[in-house]
Amino acid sequence: MQPTLLIIDDSTVLRQQVMEILKGTGSFGSFLEASNGIEGFKMLLDHDVDVVLCDLEMPGMDGLKFLDMRNARAEVRDIPVILLTGREGQDQKVSGLERGASDYVTKPFDSGELIARVKVQLKIKQLQDDLREQNQRLEELSNTDPLTQLANRRFLMKTLEKEFKRSLRNHEPLSMVMADIDHFKRINDTCGHQQGDVVLKAVSEAILDELREYDLAARFGGEEFALILPGAELPQATAAAERIRKRVANLKFEGCLKQLTVTISLGVATGPRKDIKVVDDMMRLSDDALYAAKREGRNRVVIADSP
Ligand code: GH3
Ligand code: MG
Ligand code: MG
Ligand code: MG
Repeated sequence: MQPTLLIIDDSTVLRQQVMEILKGTGSFGSFLEASNGIEGFKMLLDHDVDVVLCDLEMPGMDGLKFLDMRNARAEVRDIPVILLTGREGQDQKVSGLERGASDYVTKPFDSGELIARVKVQLKIKQLQDDLREQNQRLEELSNTDPLTQLANRRFLMKTLEKEFKRSLRNHEPLSMVMADIDHFKRINDTCGHQQGDVVLKAVSEAILDELREYDLAARFGGEEFALILPGAELPQATAAAERIRKRVANLKFEGCLKQLTVTISLGVATGPRKDIKVVDDMMRLSDDALYAAKREGRNRVVIADSP
């Protein structure tokens, strides 16, 4: 998408002049105009603006107040603002820069200088945007298990800590489910590791499909999964675990895997309860329930012992 420039100035003539000059550069796809700070600030919030040119002196809200408003909102704080100033008013220029203006252009301005200063800010904005996007992608990658695309253990632990605190603070239920594929070694041994991976992916999809969007599913280890269900009471969490169990048992595979039945065992624990004091208690209880499910014959859901 072509960049957008927002020009805020009480003079229509000046706005026209600026737009004429900058249109000629072909650097911008669209131009927005406002005649005072308030109007300009609304446009800043409502549109994807890349660079702002803002007059310092305007009736109503001036350039300095506009900068204050921009600084107070995280979502627009990083959009560069170039101030349009008169020949005098050195103090105001300094105040503007101190309040986070990126640059200023003195009126009456030279068109070459205006273009050059705007282009610099546009370039900086684009580099910042790219960096932010890359950081976001890196963060997503660092939280994701590459094989299954579920959350990884690290992200699960972070989320569990957060949800656990929230549950205690708000007296809201929090459920945890630990799950483990039954006789997975047999699947690998019979059909090979690659086919084992096919099963892991299919089970992961089945789990995701049965959860609500605010639940979290993570690959906790090799063929072990951990689920966090914020707000879910024990019956809801048990029902979700049961849905997953059935769904996995009904998965259909091709080739070598066709001869095998894939099943999963699950253990459920729900807090708050008096013997769950820290996150580790929650994990231990759901894990104990999972191992009870294994002992009792697999392909089943077991609820953690009551306190
Ligand atoms: P149980 O029902 O008691 O859970 O038996 P199991 O065979 O599933 O349990 P066990 O822990 O003995 O075996 C787990 C196997 O999972 C062993 C390991 O080779 C395999 N495994 C772990 N990670 C991966 C993986 O990423 N891909 C594949 N294909 N196999 C994996
Ligand atoms: Mg003015
Ligand atoms: Mg297993
Ligand atoms: Mg295991």
